[in-house]
Amino acid sequence: MMADATTRPERAAEVGAVFDAIVVGAGFAGMYMLHRLRGLGFSARVFEVGGGVGGTWYWNRYPGARCDVESMQYSFSFSEELDQEWNWSEKYAPQPEILSYANHVADRFDLRRRIVFDTRVIAATFNEKAKCWLIETDRGDRVTAKFCIMAAGCLSAPNRPKFKGLEDFRGPIYHTGEWPHQGVDFTGLRVGVIGTGSSAIQSIPIIAQQASALTVFQRTATWSVPAWNEKLSPEYLQAAKADYPALRAKARARPTGFYFPFNTQPALEASAQDREAQYEQAWARGGLPFLGSYGDLLFEKAANDTIADFARRKIRGIVKDPVTAELLCPDNVFGCKRLCVDTGYFETYNLPHVKLVDVSRTPIERFTADGIEVNGVEYPLDAVVCATGFAAMTGSFDKIRITGRNGLTLSEKWRAGPRAYLGIASVGFPNLFMITGPGSPSVLASMIQAIEQHVDWLADCIGHMRDVGATTIEPIPSDEDAWVEHVNEVSTVSLRSTCSSWYVGANIPGRPRVFMPYIGGFPIYVQKCNEVVSSGFDGFALEGTPLSDAAPQVRYTERWRVPIDIDVISPAAVAARRVPMV
Ligand code: FAD
Ligand code: NAP
Repeated sequence: MMADATTRPERAAEVGAVFDAIVVGAGFAGMYMLHRLRGLGFSARVFEVGGGVGGTWYWNRYPGARCDVESMQYSFSFSEELDQEWNWSEKYAPQPEILSYANHVADRFDLRRRIVFDTRVIAATFNEKAKCWLIETDRGDRVTAKFCIMAAGCLSAPNRPKFKGLEDFRGPIYHTGEWPHQGVDFTGLRVGVIGTGSSAIQSIPIIAQQASALTVFQRTATWSVPAWNEKLSPEYLQAAKADYPALRAKARARPTGFYFPFNTQPALEASAQDREAQYEQAWARGGLPFLGSYGDLLFEKAANDTIADFARRKIRGIVKDPVTAELLCPDNVFGCKRLCVDTGYFETYNLPHVKLVDVSRTPIERFTADGIEVNGVEYPLDAVVCATGFAAMTGSFDKIRITGRNGLTLSEKWRAGPRAYLGIASVGFPNLFMITGPGSPSVLASMIQAIEQHVDWLADCIGHMRDVGATTIEPIPSDEDAWVEHVNEVSTVSLRSTCSSWYVGANIPGRPRVFMPYIGGFPIYVQKCNEVVSSGFDGFALEGTPLSDAAPQVRYTERWRVPIDIDVISPAAVAARRVPMV
């Protein structure tokens, strides 16, 4: 039995309406896109599967869910007033607070009236003659728009492995990414958690406080760093807000799109003693910045070994049972998969009612009526939590039949891996845009900054098309090919390309293995996007442009034109393998 997340109210289908733009999804990307479109005077409609705004933070209501980029930076930066009026309560805000923030933004910028909730877009078809998109939903809506903008999320299509016997299990099965809104009380229950990624790391310590027995099924051990989460005092907030624009500007200049102090010195040039001191200091600060301890950690295996050794010693120091401790020690590259940030994760395994089951060599065989069977042993369970992640980056596209020129579907085009120019648009799909699509920094940057930069770029692009009377825009095939090649080439510089992560689609059997996000660094990517705007959309073909010589007006991308810290983030630095990335 799969636990249900929502029920939806009845409404009549909308047929025949015409908009300038349809936006798919009302997470942070869809909300900000709508705000910009309205600011430019375009008519727009957003369709959203969920019953409210917030996307990730609407769906992921599992216990312990919170951001891993500090709240002061994991938030919109487009409005100084918004920055000043909102007060984050903790260093890493919990899910309910981030959802409240999303709702506050929707109200403050009057977004709700243009969003149709409880509605899934199931098809988008380009009409070559009329040069517009027909959008169809699961409620029977059929509307058209010049632009179709996919804001459907990089991590919004839950991965539900098809374990044998799922239907036999008598208890509820939850997925962290579709958590029941009324919450779940595990008090006194025997609970199984499948997975040890970020969602599991956050939820396991809390579930363990309620459950009478907790069994964690681990396929790959996870690197995790303590969050050292804390309340933000009024004094802290006041001081941080006094200089908020400067913090935002510093963040935009960073490879990750968020600011933290990092050390560009190579680990291999430091003495063992200095490295130890550096790692201790960074561990005490905690969080993703731990990976910024040295500049070569994700580029030189020998350097990575030093931080991996340190982190393994930390795990062995925390977990009392030596067998469990060894099982919890990852043997892959440190930070190769998305680094986890936890509160009391490893400590949880010291509790007598918490058990770790290794399913790396002997996978989960089946669900039974009363539990999960591994290697001939049945683990009795009353409820199961699948913290099994997402069909990342392309999963939400796969769920929509997107048909471009000549009847080609996006899924067909992307069968061997996603191909998009700048991760924004794809040849054969005119006027279809993607926010934080594959081939852009997206999940390797602080996502809200990546979203804002894409939306601002799109606003300038769509505004320019109106200025010059363009009917369609589409990447030029050779530019798309060159960009895809560049994305692949840059990825090989990083050790991140070496492991089986969701960055390469390896978490789900059968998906093509391609490094999907752009790892060359946020500012370098932004610079390229800015050049494209300044040049009149170089790399794109615009059709029907009587005023094609008109210089593009830079309306919104101006704020992304920050000076790049050349010592840290230049292409030469990338070549020298010294770009710290988290
Ligand atoms: P989403 O928030 O995923 O929103 C997409 C929306 O599109 C969803 O509401 C979905 O229902 C809707 N949708 C999808 N398909 C359709 C369709 N066919 N029709 C209609 N609607 C559709 N990033 C960070 O930078 N820092 C963090 O700390 C961080 N923490 C995270 C924690 C969790 C648990 C998860 C899962 C992700 C986290 N992320 C984090 C990544 C996070 O996804 C982004 O930060 C950000 O919220 C993405 O916003 P979005 O609008 O692009 O996508
Ligand atoms: P995830 O990182 O993909 O983790 C999924 C886990 O499930 C992995 O341990 C995976 O094992 C396991 N798994 C999948 N299929 C399995 C199977 N058939 N049998 C056994 N185990 C299986 O997913 P996630 O934890 O939901 O996180 C996804 C991303 O969302 C994160 O990387 C992060 O970007 C974001 N996120 C952020 C936060 C935060 O701290 N703010 C919290 C949650 C999510 P393998 O590793 O072997 O594949």
